[in-house]
Parts: sequence; C-alpha cells; structure tokens
Amino acid sequence: MSVVNFDILIPLDSQGFMELECDYCKNRFMVLGDEFKNGDFLHMFCPVCGIPNHLNTFYTTEVIEKSHEIISQWAIDQIQKTLGASIKSLNKNKFIKVDMKIPKVNSNLELYEASNCYLKVNLECCNIDLKIREIDHLVGAYCPKCGGCHI
Ligand SMILES: [Zn+2]
Ligand SMILES: [Zn+2]
Repeated sequence: MSVVNFDILIPLDSQGFMELECDYCKNRFMVLGDEFKNGDFLHMFCPVCGIPNHLNTFYTTEVIEKSHEIISQWAIDQIQKTLGASIKSLNKNKFIKVDMKIPKVNSNLELYEASNCYLKVNLECCNIDLKIREIDHLVGAYCPKCGGCHI
C-alpha cells in the first residue's frame, strides 16, 4: 500500500502569518507560517488560554474541512478510475447498460480569507511575532513557544 500525501495550501496574510484556532478555548490567533512549519517545537501554547497542545490541533475548522474535501475528492477519483474501466468493458455487452453517478464533492468550498483584525505583537522571551485580537492583548497573552505570560 503506497502512502498518499495531500498538500493543503493554507493561506497566509500579507505579512506571512497563518490563522490558527485553539482546540480548547476556540479562540483564534496568528503565527508566522514559517515558524509554524519549521519551528522546532512539537507543542504550542495557546496565546489566549495558555494551554499547550500538539501543533496539529491548531488548524482552523476551514482548513480541516478543506482537507476532508480534498481527500474525499481523491477517493472519488480513485473509484472513478477503477470502476470506470470495468463499467466501460461491461457496456461493451449490448444487453447490460451500466451507468455511474457519483456525487461531486462541493469543490466550491474555498478556504477562508486570512483576516486582518489582529494586533501584531512581539514576544521578547522567544523573539516571536504573533497576531492576537486586541482584547486578548489587553488581558495578556501567552508565548506559544515557552508559555510565558505577557501582560
Ligand atoms: Zn486556547
Ligand atoms: Zn517565550
């Protein structure tokens, strides 16, 4: 069985930040895409509630939906490839007419537009740039890398 990799493009804003969502508090924030992809941390602290979690739990609902859609489309393509061939050979037989109707996955579902309603902050402890909502900044933010609190 071969491994299939799916590349999902997560949109970045004009400054290279990607939007993430905490699985615990459901608040959103942004970190640099490069930092998220190439950073040397497996866990990240949510800047809003401060609870650490695996990096892959921080994808937004839209990104997860998009990945499901891409995988379903791939599965349907595979079915069409394999079934399509055998249906063609079946149809060569005049007495049997087989047709195939597979529902198309909604390909119009596009990823969110990265929003710009965030405030950019730099956390000195790990020298990391972060974008959080203004209200979260007022209450105090946690560093995604070391979990230190900044007020
Ligand atoms: Zn959180
Ligand atoms: Zn830090």
